[in-house]
Amino acid sequence: MTDAITRYDLPQTAIPRRWYNIQADLPRPLPPVLHPATHAPIGPDDLAPLFPGALIQQEVSTERYIDIPDEVREIYKLWRPTPLIRARRLEKALDTPAHIYYKYEGVSPSGSHKLNTAVAQAYYNKAAGVQGLTTETGAGQWGTALSIACNFVGLPLEVFMVKVSFQQKPYRRVIMQSFGSSVQASPSDTTDAGRAVLAQDPDTTGSLGIAISEAVEVAAKSGGTKKYALGSVLNHVLTHQTVIGQEALAQMELAGEFPDVVVACAGGGSNLGGIALPFIHLNLTAGKNTRILATEPAACPSLTRGVYAYDFGDAIGMTPLIKMHTLGRRFIPPPVHAGGLRYHGMASIISELYDQRMMEATAIGQVETFKAAMTFLRAEGIVPAPEPSHAIAGVIREALAAKESGEKKVILFHLCGHGHFDMSAYDAFVSGQLHDYEYPQELIDAAMADLPQVEDPTQAS
Ligand SMILES: *Cc1c(COP(=O)(O)O)cnc(C)c1O
Repeated sequence: MTDAITRYDLPQTAIPRRWYNIQADLPRPLPPVLHPATHAPIGPDDLAPLFPGALIQQEVSTERYIDIPDEVREIYKLWRPTPLIRARRLEKALDTPAHIYYKYEGVSPSGSHKLNTAVAQAYYNKAAGVQGLTTETGAGQWGTALSIACNFVGLPLEVFMVKVSFQQKPYRRVIMQSFGSSVQASPSDTTDAGRAVLAQDPDTTGSLGIAISEAVEVAAKSGGTKKYALGSVLNHVLTHQTVIGQEALAQMELAGEFPDVVVACAGGGSNLGGIALPFIHLNLTAGKNTRILATEPAACPSLTRGVYAYDFGDAIGMTPLIKMHTLGRRFIPPPVHAGGLRYHGMASIISELYDQRMMEATAIGQVETFKAAMTFLRAEGIVPAPEPSHAIAGVIREALAAKESGEKKVILFHLCGHGHFDMSAYDAFVSGQLHDYEYPQELIDAAMADLPQVEDPTQAS
């Protein structure tokens, strides 16, 4: 055994005491969120039927730091701080001079980063006297995380689970139910939104956008007793996730290195924001120059092939309009296995950073992604979820480029979840059933033609 260190741990006292809010440091403010009917910028009152006041304040806050409530930190102690690992065995397998580090959120009770915001959202809703939450879930990671969080704070939870996952991932449903949540396949016949979709297409496998419509409808019609929780995209969600990047900064310091590039997969943008925003803070305020690389599936390329425009967050068109990189709200992504990356839009914060060239993005097919996952798991022993396997594929490209150029590059990536519930995807890969899927340009063009006609207030003369 050598003395070479492969793991950098922080004590529980180093769990961050505040979240970092990048809205304090953006060169220009985020585009306003618009009312779905009037297209006028919305105020806090418009969001009050869906979210508690504390989260609405965080959504629009320009304070640089937001204190993490003691009750939330107390629950974070169950798994935080998460480890930072030097992937020496992967470096060796790739024969690269690059140093590769990863921050591993798969050690959380839900198996992914989502519990960081789930606990915060459940806490603020409970504190505001809300009597129940509604939400949607795609692959099941968010529904699982929010079920665990609601169980801790004592809030009932109703989950609308995209039908294809409900059928393919029964164990995810059972976990949510074990924590006390009620779970329905979406589209369901219990909401107007669900019934409308079923009337048009009774055999639909559902989508995240449709499930969001259902969950929002139940909260909106509850007369204020129930509220809605979203696991990604929103500003407050990305802010909550910054515990990841803050810890990673301290751990890279323990390792005595600083990353040249930070890589993470992008679905709605929360795990990417979580690890990257504290590094972008230093780019913006401390003269650092860290590259940020988002990796997205070639089958759902909202950053690299979508447009930066106002669009709805859901499929039906009930939510406020957000300016974001989008493939159009009616986009029903091909059934690639990275369920968590199959969303038509992208967080406003990530869209703005990408538009302002403060980060890069690349799209990767699922065959390259699973090959990368295999290389990683055989070297490091952890089965990665399909979503962060896109980040691993991006890392391997970077590491092989470093080998080509002989550069001693330092790479940090986010392993935001393990893949223990994704073995059917691995099964498809090892049996040769997994194929690449490029989203056809005609379908993207059709979706673009269908974007809501909105006068963009950031373009107004
Ligand atoms: C939900 C999820 C994602 C996608 O969501 P982001 O908001 O882009 O992070 C990616 N990976 C895992 C493991 C997830 O649970």
